[in-house]
Amino acid sequence: MIDADVVVVGSGNAALCAAIAAREAGADVLMLEKADEKLAGGNSKYTAGAMRFVYNDTRDLLPLLLDPDDPRLPDTDFGAYSADKFEQDLLGFNDGRPLSREQRALIDHSQDTLLWLAQHGIKFEPIYERQSFEKDGKHIFWGGLTLAARDEGVGLVEAELAAFLKMGGRIRYDSAMVDLITDGAAVCGVVVESPTGEQKEVRSNAVILGCGGFEANPRLRQKYIGDQWDMAKVRGTPHNTGEGIELALGLGAKQHGHFQGCHATPMDLHMKDYGNLEIPHLERKNYRKICYFLGVMVNANGQRFVDEGKDFRNYTYAQFGKAVLEQPGHFAWQIFDSKVDDLLYGEYRFHDAHFSESETLEGLIEQLDEIIDKAAVRRTLNEFNRAVDDGVPFDPTIKDGKGTKGLALSKSNWAQKIDTGPFKAYPVTGGITFTYGGLQVDDRGAVMRENDTPIDGLFACGELIGGVFFNGYPGGSGLTSGAVFGRRAGNGAGALAMT
Ligand SMILES: Cc1cc2nc3c(=O)[nH]c(=O)nc-3n(C[C@H](O)[C@H](O)[C@H](O)COP(=O)(O)OP(=O)(O)OC[C@H]3O[C@@H](n4cnc5c(N)ncnc54)[C@H](O)[C@@H]3O)c2cc1C
Repeated sequence: MIDADVVVVGSGNAALCAAIAAREAGADVLMLEKADEKLAGGNSKYTAGAMRFVYNDTRDLLPLLLDPDDPRLPDTDFGAYSADKFEQDLLGFNDGRPLSREQRALIDHSQDTLLWLAQHGIKFEPIYERQSFEKDGKHIFWGGLTLAARDEGVGLVEAELAAFLKMGGRIRYDSAMVDLITDGAAVCGVVVESPTGEQKEVRSNAVILGCGGFEANPRLRQKYIGDQWDMAKVRGTPHNTGEGIELALGLGAKQHGHFQGCHATPMDLHMKDYGNLEIPHLERKNYRKICYFLGVMVNANGQRFVDEGKDFRNYTYAQFGKAVLEQPGHFAWQIFDSKVDDLLYGEYRFHDAHFSESETLEGLIEQLDEIIDKAAVRRTLNEFNRAVDDGVPFDPTIKDGKGTKGLALSKSNWAQKIDTGPFKAYPVTGGITFTYGGLQVDDRGAVMRENDTPIDGLFACGELIGGVFFNGYPGGSGLTSGAVFGRRAGNGAGALAMT
């Protein structure tokens, strides 16, 4: 006796896309979510809802928009984001590896998957606030990322869940998968545990794992990513503790992708250990601090340690969390002067943002108690100011080439002297977003064994797919990956369950 044709474990974006696709295939679908109803939706709920996909021009965006008559549209330059550019962006983080099969699928199905979501009532809005700057009366988008789901991550999850329930899907909260059931050959269900420890079997023809990576599990972080990673703050849900990956590996699944890699971002040093869904969703991202490209970052020894202006922040923010975590004491200061104050995102004006402020640079340095070597930070800032190329105009809408000259560690773009008070310094640490290593799936989303054969009845999607990201990440690719591989796994499991 089965409880559902298809069981989907998790209820984030990937799991929801899988559940919708499996319903479309005609399967009776039951989602099982570890969290209670409030925390259900996983990391997807914490996101800004931004999704990266291929488009040629504004006409490709219109069918996705909540308000295609937005009066700003005629004065907006969205540019284009070609498949080639997406490929180059991903290859830029591959450390010489060729494009993976997963990356090819992500690129090739990004646009049709966004359209599929829109057909299910999930609508999008241009990200004017964070992905465009105004120039000559026009909103100029940069970085290949233009749209986010209405009401960001919460809106995305709510809209996807509404679509799934409307199609007759079912969901159970407080149901943590603790084991996979097999009939000897195929996976035919899961064991779930309630918060009180009561265990129950749930039987099905197919199981889709959409239950995230291992970013919220300090033991697995240390095991796979490295020693200092037990210290990382977790930007999102406390529930992604890696059971999906571990249980599948226990059944002989292949370990796939870059297990040492993860997405990690500079975050407010004083944030709590996990993300906070209690605060209004538009403020949730505000523990993030990613305007380092407008200033400099120094560590406890008063040294800079990255090229803050290496690229648009979409292409650096997911790596710089790791760089911060690797500094002495696992923290750094981001230092800005008043020239860029208006350009700092809302997260720097957030009521809970921690910062020091002074009319003079010397006064600011005196306040940075955690900096062991104050003379060194003075020297670093003086050398930086002397190295700024004054001959090149500052322009945040492009990679302006306004760099430093003669420093051992350059700042390649947007380098302005830090010389106009008041000055501000924000303390940051590294916050892990999600992990890159995981399982391998075939073209139907079925989980592969070491010997390249699929494990019958077992499918996977979302963060727990390996091979999509290696040493970095172009912003907005995680949700698109979840949607592309979720839809694929839902199609695959739905087809299997209905034969
Ligand atoms: C603060 C923040 C901002 C982000 N912003 C963006 C953005 O704007 N754009 C973007 O593309 N990406 C963004 N990301 C990355 C993005 O969140 C992930 O790539 C994506 O949401 C992962 O989706 P998922 O469905 O795989 O996992 P999740 O959404 O995390 O869902 C996994 C679900 O599985 C459940 N679960 C875990 N273990 C079990 C178990 N044993 N049994 C049952 N259920 C279980 C969890 O509770 C959770 O609900 C952001 C992440 C964070 C944390």
